[in-house]
Amino acid sequence: MPTKLPDPRQSPRFAGVATFCRYPLLELVGADCLPVDWAVYGVPFDGGVTYRPGARFGPRAVREASQYVKRYSIEHDVDVCEVLSLADAGDAPVSPYDCKENADRVVEWASGVGEPGHTKLLAVGGDHSVAYANIKATWLRRGSPAGGLALIHFDSHLDTVDSVWGEKWGHASPFIRAIEEGLIDPKRMISVGIKGPLNAKADLDYAKAHGVQIVTHAEWQQDGSSRLTDFARGLGNDETYITFDIDCVDPAYAPGTGTLCPGGFTSAEVLEMLRSLAGVLVVGADVVEVLPDLDPAGITAFLAAHVVFEVMCLDAVRRVES
Ligand code: MN
Ligand code: MN
Repeated sequence: MPTKLPDPRQSPRFAGVATFCRYPLLELVGADCLPVDWAVYGVPFDGGVTYRPGARFGPRAVREASQYVKRYSIEHDVDVCEVLSLADAGDAPVSPYDCKENADRVVEWASGVGEPGHTKLLAVGGDHSVAYANIKATWLRRGSPAGGLALIHFDSHLDTVDSVWGEKWGHASPFIRAIEEGLIDPKRMISVGIKGPLNAKADLDYAKAHGVQIVTHAEWQQDGSSRLTDFARGLGNDETYITFDIDCVDPAYAPGTGTLCPGGFTSAEVLEMLRSLAGVLVVGADVVEVLPDLDPAGITAFLAAHVVFEVMCLDAVRRVES
């Protein structure tokens, strides 16, 4: 059943308590709209960052910015709230001082959100360490598929560093941990928007050795968009997770992030890339690394809110067309 949203022409977007995209709080969703298809939730955790902190305030900023996200996509010709039942599940419990304990808490909580066999999870961070937790919860909820999930990863960074300062569960390491645990399949993983400089050339070794497809930003500018769409077509009906680190976007368009890199995507390119994934079977997603203190005009959070919307569009389009 579809999502019951307040009508913005009756109840203004600047009024009321802010939930993600004005979706109803999960506990307030009526029986006729259950089970929900997607639960969007916040993970206000930034204990895993290696540079500027503050992404713990990301979920609140994205909720606020998302009040002006509308429901009908012109580009896909789909009204997500007609096709999908969507809800804001609130925030996961966090453990601010301990990355591993935090991840375990989020996994435990997220494992029980909505109807595990049906409801898909989109986590709004928080730093990128929360991706590991939402991927693990998603993998568990999909019945622990032996081959792991396929992964489409947007980022300036590979996030496959074994450890930083002795920490193995920080925001530089979610995908090495997820690969080690078999939650994702590195041979069906693509990392798009990667750019230097890196701390060392060896930082590329793990991903390359495990078969991760790397599309650097420079390569993307040459022929990378076709590599991404070819990868997406090749997935067929594979269960796929999308992880979106907002620092893949140029700081001119997304200044509010902690480990920024100059020379990234424009906002328009991001939206176009996400739309090009229509047809992919998306079973979970996250949008991470929004740091509101460095986002004076709110444009980073506003873009992140639209990334949430575009992911919902992908699922809605697939359901309409299948
Ligand atoms: Mn990242
Ligand atoms: Mn990054």
